Amino acid sequence: GEIIQMPDIDASLVEVTKTNSPKDKLPPSKLRFGHTFTDHMLTIPWSSSSGWGTPEIKPYAKLELDPSSTVFHYAFCLFEGMKAYRNEDGTVRLFRPDMNMARMNRSASRIALPQFDGKQLEELIKKLVVLDSEWIPKEKGYSLYIRPTLIGTQNALGVNPSSDALLFVICSPVGPYYASGFKPVQLLATTKFVRAAPGGTGGYKLGANYAPGVVPQAEAAKEGYSQNLWLLGEEHALTEVGTMNLFVAFKKPDGSVELVTPPLDDVVLPGVTRDSALQLARAHESGELVIPGLPEKMTVSERKLIMADLVEAEKNGTLLEVFGTGTAAIVSAVDKIGYEGRDINIPTGPDGLGAIAKGILDRITAIQTGEIEHPWSVIA
Ligand code: PMP
Repeated sequence: GEIIQMPDIDASLVEVTKTNSPKDKLPPSKLRFGHTFTDHMLTIPWSSSSGWGTPEIKPYAKLELDPSSTVFHYAFCLFEGMKAYRNEDGTVRLFRPDMNMARMNRSASRIALPQFDGKQLEELIKKLVVLDSEWIPKEKGYSLYIRPTLIGTQNALGVNPSSDALLFVICSPVGPYYASGFKPVQLLATTKFVRAAPGGTGGYKLGANYAPGVVPQAEAAKEGYSQNLWLLGEEHALTEVGTMNLFVAFKKPDGSVELVTPPLDDVVLPGVTRDSALQLARAHESGELVIPGLPEKMTVSERKLIMADLVEAEKNGTLLEVFGTGTAAIVSAVDKIGYEGRDINIPTGPDGLGAIAKGILDRITAIQTGEIEHPWSVIA
């Protein structure tokens, strides 16, 4: 039969309606992560019979959805998390937005939601953040957290690909993660629950991956730990930290340092910050770039790590740093891991963040704000 090409997202068709009643802005110091939203949102409808519809940027408002919508029953929902930064001169920058667009499309393909031209959505997100850029406080360390979301909206029960979908983007001004100094986190190495299994969905940013993590986190909190260290299999292989990727630094017998992160292997979310940290660390390893704070002789590996490796390294005094990476905090140091009834203690340096974590944090932050010019930082 004839192949009919359905319309893709077309940023040039956007209809913009500005709000007549701008909301009051909170003083920056009162912002709580993800609790305040800007004046506008972006919506783009999709249906299997007509493809992607007209993008609209319009006043932030409630959605109207039929209770039978597939999102409410079978978790047809995926999302992204990215940030925009504003310079003193008013320029707004996104950090590696192409990575978020590509990951969003991969997530969509995993749950049979429609894919789209990521470049076009990126253009629309730029328009939205420029329109709402006054919402990004001028003070150092503030940014705009951007939440692109795609949901299934077909009005029908029955587990099938959704014939209708809605893509929307909302934005939330957020404060500096480390306003009151670096606070290391304590992890509970969790053996009772798993976050993701081979062949499952852990490598995709699906809503369905997150609700089941809330009870394990509450159980860890009851025992005095702030996050779960997610393990996999009988060997207790390390995968992720809460909702961050994991890095561990070991001292080697020859005096060099090995920086390790577990391989993605379909169970680890391919974090944009993970990839950035890996690329920077590898550039330092090869000598192409010298990152202040990173050891002179450092090797970087993506390899399997098991809890026995950490227990042994603690015993030998070769466990140097453990940290998580993610969009919200960039890096977050770990100073304790509860495992099988005892705690593994990890050094974190005098200011609560180890030298490698700090070196990577400073470098990524400088790129995000445009202090260091880099192709990863894209002007909106
Ligand atoms: N792992 C999980 C499970 C996450 O939810 C996130 C946050 N998106 C990350 C890792 C870090 O990813 P990124 O660096 O892209 O924010």
